[in-house]
Amino acid sequence: MRAVVQHGIRDVRLEERPNPTPGAGEVLVRTSAVTICASDVHMFAEGNVGGVSWEEPFIPGHEAAGVVEDPNDTDLPAGTRVVLDPAVACHDCDMCAEAMFHLCRNLKFCDLPPVDGAMRELIAWPANRVFPVPESLDLVEAPLIEPLCVAVHALELASRPAGAVAAVAGCGAIGLFTLQMARLQGAEKIFATDPVAERLAVARELGADETIQVGLQDPVAEILRATGDRGVDLVFEAAGPQEALEQCLGVVRPAGEVVVIGIPSADEYRLQASSLRRRELTVRFVRRQNENYPQAVELVRRGAIKLGPMLTHRFPAERAQEAFLLAERKLEGAVRVAVVFD
Ligand SMILES: [Zn+2]
Ligand SMILES: [Zn+2]
Repeated sequence: MRAVVQHGIRDVRLEERPNPTPGAGEVLVRTSAVTICASDVHMFAEGNVGGVSWEEPFIPGHEAAGVVEDPNDTDLPAGTRVVLDPAVACHDCDMCAEAMFHLCRNLKFCDLPPVDGAMRELIAWPANRVFPVPESLDLVEAPLIEPLCVAVHALELASRPAGAVAAVAGCGAIGLFTLQMARLQGAEKIFATDPVAERLAVARELGADETIQVGLQDPVAEILRATGDRGVDLVFEAAGPQEALEQCLGVVRPAGEVVVIGIPSADEYRLQASSLRRRELTVRFVRRQNENYPQAVELVRRGAIKLGPMLTHRFPAERAQEAFLLAERKLEGAVRVAVVFD
């Protein structure tokens, strides 16, 4: 099979690799497309994500969709169109016992070295981590169910989306899904911020009431002005950089809540203790998602959430290097970029 392999910083190549053989409880999936997550971009451009690096060349990608090629010993019929949940919990530890599978102490994650990712023609994956999707869904858009799950989970953690004045910092895929989810759950007004004008246009299309272009406008000043200095009840940080978190903390009202989803490059945040304490803020961190696939698939099936506007670019596997560079540089209004296998 052909596989995209990362050899070094900003160096991915399409290569031949042996076909995988499914083990007990695994199905073999023929991959249709893999979308490039911000975490893949960190690994591509910086050589690590959240402190995890690699020693051997590895296959990136964890947002994948495809078609069951070989059911093996499972009851998923061949030909089923599916998305993959990249996280495999042990079902044995204390966190799993409390149904917090995403916080499993022995979690295996697709594309976190040494586990190879999904950017290859065939992948063997546990059948219970493979979810059927409707026939109507484009299999190049379907990998976006994964970042959608993160947004579904972020809204599960947020204590009061209904009726809230909210802000979303960062209009990448997760930010835009968070925006859609906040709207769906009854947020009264939503601000969205991002440095890229095209992304803000998508945010408006998806229901942002006001957008602020970071770099040209000051998000803190604009949001405070628009709320009569009140600030917002709930902010989602879906950008990553320190400045974005500072802006979130700058616009949240006393007793408000900041939900942090983004991954900072430097793997650390600086917080001003007094500013958090005096306003008695709640700062929540989001770790991916927890068993949200069936719910996310259903939201897409009934048209409550759109995937299409987030998938801005498609590249054949031969041009994976170009796809990664575009995703890194966020050129041409790129939100999510797909690497497609034919
Ligand atoms: Zn992802
Ligand atoms: Zn576990």
